[in-house]
Amino acid sequence: MHMKLSYQSTRGGESGLTASQAILKGLADDGGLFMPTEIPKLDVSMEKLAGMTYQETAYQVMKQFLTDFTEEELRYCIDHAYDSKFDTEEIAPLVKADGAYYLELFHGNTIAFKDMALSILPYLMTTSAKKNHIKNEIVILTATSGDTGKAAMAGFADVPGTRIIVFYPKGGVSKVQELQMVTQKGENTAVVAIHGNFDDAQTGVKKIFGDKEFAKKLDEKGFQLSSANSINIGRLVPQVVYYVYAYAKLLENGEITDGQEIDVVVPTGNFGNILAAYFAKQMGVPIKTLICASNENKVLYDFFETGVYDRKREFILTSSPSMDILISSNLERLIYLSTGCDAAANKALMEDLSAEGAYQATAEMRAFMKDFTGGYAAEDQNAAEIRKVYEDTGYVIDTHTGVASAVYRAYKERTKDETPTVIASTASPYKFSHSVLEAIKGDLGDADEFAIIDRLAEISGVKIPAAVEEIRSAQVRHSRECDGADMEKTVAEILGL
Ligand SMILES: *Cc1c(COP(=O)(O)O)cnc(C)c1O
Repeated sequence: MHMKLSYQSTRGGESGLTASQAILKGLADDGGLFMPTEIPKLDVSMEKLAGMTYQETAYQVMKQFLTDFTEEELRYCIDHAYDSKFDTEEIAPLVKADGAYYLELFHGNTIAFKDMALSILPYLMTTSAKKNHIKNEIVILTATSGDTGKAAMAGFADVPGTRIIVFYPKGGVSKVQELQMVTQKGENTAVVAIHGNFDDAQTGVKKIFGDKEFAKKLDEKGFQLSSANSINIGRLVPQVVYYVYAYAKLLENGEITDGQEIDVVVPTGNFGNILAAYFAKQMGVPIKTLICASNENKVLYDFFETGVYDRKREFILTSSPSMDILISSNLERLIYLSTGCDAAANKALMEDLSAEGAYQATAEMRAFMKDFTGGYAAEDQNAAEIRKVYEDTGYVIDTHTGVASAVYRAYKERTKDETPTVIASTASPYKFSHSVLEAIKGDLGDADEFAIIDRLAEISGVKIPAAVEEIRSAQVRHSRECDGADMEKTVAEILGL
């Protein structure tokens, strides 16, 4: 048996939680995020991992973090999550194209990488509830920039003992993303379009979590809140798995030798996915540079360049909407680590962010983050990259992966760094059909979304995923809207408080 980890808030208000307690809470009472007391090391060799299935790899990684889960519980969660919901047994295949390895993370239910963690979160959550003798119904509150909402609902729909309420920015998501959400089935699901952007939705959700009076009212009615956003440690841990798996597959396929370093490029919004890559590195995966790719909302690029995080800028709607974010929540976990786990220092910075819209990292903190580098791609660079990869290789990538791929190309040109590189490919091109086809073929006029999807199938030769076929004819079930200021009231209405 290995030592039990415990979890604490990045702002110092709570400590000593088990993994299951941290998963149930989602966010700490003081507004901080839960972190393990240390990032555990892998206790199995890469050579062994190279022969493992995705499910077995998931067990080897997750058992190190979720130390209060029994082997039986954890394997139950893993086996029910990573099954035929995915359209390939590999779960996360690596595709070599144009000088890089694209790690396809979009083979789940809702064809975006959010499925990698949200397929398992409902199992982790209900197992955690059982372990902690929770009687309340768990209400999952989720702010989404387009992909989390659908993936979370697909995971939690009709799961006994749970309800899920999703807030998305009206006008801030793709047509396919919106249709996927508003047609969601399940008696326990609710979808609300808010008049605002993703940051408004996320800030509103965090505010509801912080309202003690509201929590009391909920408890009286038999409810308690949790989160499916990447602030939940139960989202982050399953995301570490595919970086370990990708390295092991490169080794198994003879693309690298054991111990050889790789770089990873991650199209970033809330900083969850790239933080998972950093956790994988800390666990022992030989990752050299973590390249953080942003779209025109390049707050993270500026941060890694200057040490100043400044959200006071225009919020730009781009063709990679799942990265249209100015407050990257998970960066708080890296900030916390970079202060030497000084919760008071981290808390002061987060208070600066909330009061003044900015904070500055010290020289020591920046030195701690030296393995990260930022890059960004403007809209025209992203489109040019999607077209180039298609013209060179016939491989079609989505608009988020396009940002990462463009950033990688510029990085490689600038640094001459020839390290083998894994690019996180975060969505199926079908999810952003219009922008992808336009990048490849030019102006589409006013072509209908489904005509575009059929056209994309012709040029890519990739079968249209079930997730897209489903929404061609599905009935709209959700039409609720609200102002950012009324989110709590809306939650109360939905729950019948
Ligand atoms: C959520 C999302 C991202 C951003 O991931 P973070 O973990 O928030 O940084 C990138 N691409 C797609 C397609 C997404 O859905």
